[in-house]
Amino acid sequence: MRTMLWVQAACCGGETTSLLNADQPLVDRALRLADARFLWHPYLQAADAPPLEETLARCASGAEPLDLLVVEGAVCRGPWASQGHRTLQRPLSEWADELAVAARYVVAVGTCASFGGVMVHGRNRPGMSGLQFTRDRPGGLLGEQYRSSGGLPVVNVPGCPAHPDWMIGTIVALLADRLRPEDLDRFHRPRLFYSRLAHHGCPRNEYYEFKSSAEQYSQQGCLFENLGCRGTQCDSDCNERLWLGRTGSCPRGGFPCVSCTSPGFPDRFEPFFETPKVGGIPTSLPLDVPKAWYVGISGLSKLACPPRLRRNAVSFTRGESAPEDPDDDGPANADG
Ligand code: SF4
Ligand code: SF4
Repeated sequence: MRTMLWVQAACCGGETTSLLNADQPLVDRALRLADARFLWHPYLQAADAPPLEETLARCASGAEPLDLLVVEGAVCRGPWASQGHRTLQRPLSEWADELAVAARYVVAVGTCASFGGVMVHGRNRPGMSGLQFTRDRPGGLLGEQYRSSGGLPVVNVPGCPAHPDWMIGTIVALLADRLRPEDLDRFHRPRLFYSRLAHHGCPRNEYYEFKSSAEQYSQQGCLFENLGCRGTQCDSDCNERLWLGRTGSCPRGGFPCVSCTSPGFPDRFEPFFETPKVGGIPTSLPLDVPKAWYVGISGLSKLACPPRLRRNAVSFTRGESAPEDPDDDGPANADG
């Protein structure tokens, strides 16, 4: 049976909460399919599991073979390395160093473990970092050259939190030795989950194409131009995979994507909920569109925008009639 160790460093517990929302498959079924068990997980280890430090020591020494080390949260490398909430005799950064040598594969779940995330925001006085990156700089706790005995760098599964499919899919693929170096992108994220944009599949795409934008939350239009949506700059499949019972995503719920899977999250995407502009042009443009093209295309798109879309973009409810427009081509319809 494969063995896994899931440890929490400096984190809010969001990845564990997200993992518990897994539905296709449920966590226990995924474990059975992968023939795996947790030697330790803060919520899911066996009731009679030995104390955490005893398990860490057995894994680090090789007495207990370790297939997968999963780390949730940023590691504190500052002068006191105080994370672990004083429950451990040694800083977790020291344990992680040793366990990464012993484990066949290492996974960083969530943006904090991957890149530092909210923990490295600002001046980062506690010296936080991700396991193998600090923001977009390779290095982190383990160093740029680190490779586990299975031949991979730390596999990053960022998100704030990460989608349960991203975590379970990655874990199951690693336990089956099915992930190869070429399956990872330059930030060590599995391409399977991070080669799309959060923008793809958003129901507001038609509004986006015609630059028909919401001006307030709860309106139907695209959230990019005025309300800070970064879906066109964010590597994830959130609008195709969907969350929480396969029903939602941030933009579907009326909330702008804040690019939480990116190495620069959160600093690089502030201010949230507004779109900084120069001369009326957003300063952060879609990843794959040159600025000159964007300016030309968006001007033409606005001119070509059907009145139905212009009207519905600023209406609050699907099918609700927004104020009449003299150029209107007919009644607002629920498909807008
Ligand atoms: S709301 Fe965001 S994700 Fe949706 S279409 Fe607009 S830019 Fe794309
Ligand atoms: S839509 Fe954007 S902010 Fe929301 S979970 Fe996905 S990547 Fe993160």
